[in-house]
Amino acid sequence: MSSFPVILSAPSGGGKTTIARRLLERRLDLGYSVSCTTRPPREGEVDGRDYRFLSREAFEAAVARGEFAEWAEVHGNLYGTLRTEVERVLTAGRHVLMDIDVQGARQFHLAFPDTVLIFVLPPSGEVLKTRLSARKSEDQAKLLVRLRNARAELGEVGRYHYVVVNDHLERAVDQVSSIIDAEGLRHDRVHELEAQVEGLIEQLEQEIHVFSKGD
Ligand code: ADP
Ligand code: 5GP
Repeated sequence: MSSFPVILSAPSGGGKTTIARRLLERRLDLGYSVSCTTRPPREGEVDGRDYRFLSREAFEAAVARGEFAEWAEVHGNLYGTLRTEVERVLTAGRHVLMDIDVQGARQFHLAFPDTVLIFVLPPSGEVLKTRLSARKSEDQAKLLVRLRNARAELGEVGRYHYVVVNDHLERAVDQVSSIIDAEGLRHDRVHELEAQVEGLIEQLEQEIHVFSKGD
């Protein structure tokens, strides 16, 4: 089976980072594309693991050198996917899992049409606000920006192939995992399908030959 990119998008607080982490623990056939950002690190975030934290100047220089497969300004900061990250994971034979916003997802899908786009929905507006507040990652003003931006982000859901409601975490993780399994079985992704089927037809002809002799 050939490996392919998988994008998770959601309004901030929707749970995409949590779902991505669980999937990466569970599935060795997935690798994470570590994005670059100009946002300052949150408590507990590690440079090179969660993000590559860059200054705006360094980010813009990388844009000018054409290093990003996609990039966008989100909630006032720059975020981007390095081409080298995508290649690193795909050449290791793994599906590349990306946690990127709706603008980036659109750009990336245009450049890599075999990408699987999954939108993670919160069960309700209230739950989204509660989860985002409980994360304590943003002050009140930044939290409000993220909630306001959620309205426009939700309007993009129709561009996605799949929608998963993140109510019960384990169920949402199971659903994303099932999507990846099903996508890997699409006929255009199955490795050397024609040769496999030709081999089967040859075997079947032999079986028919032997069987018909017994008539
Ligand atoms: P995102 O990456 O989409 O911004 P996070 O993965 O950081 O969202 O999730 C936001 C907060 O909600 C985190 O504190 C996370 O632990 C919590 N969370 C995520 N999914 C669930 C869930 N299904 N049930 C309860 N809390 C959740
Ligand atoms: P956060 O600051 O909460 O980690 O992420 C904010 C938003 O930026 C989320 O919607 C997240 O998906 C998005 N994001 C993270 N990495 C990238 C990236 O490489 N490219 C784009 N376009 N968006 C990203």
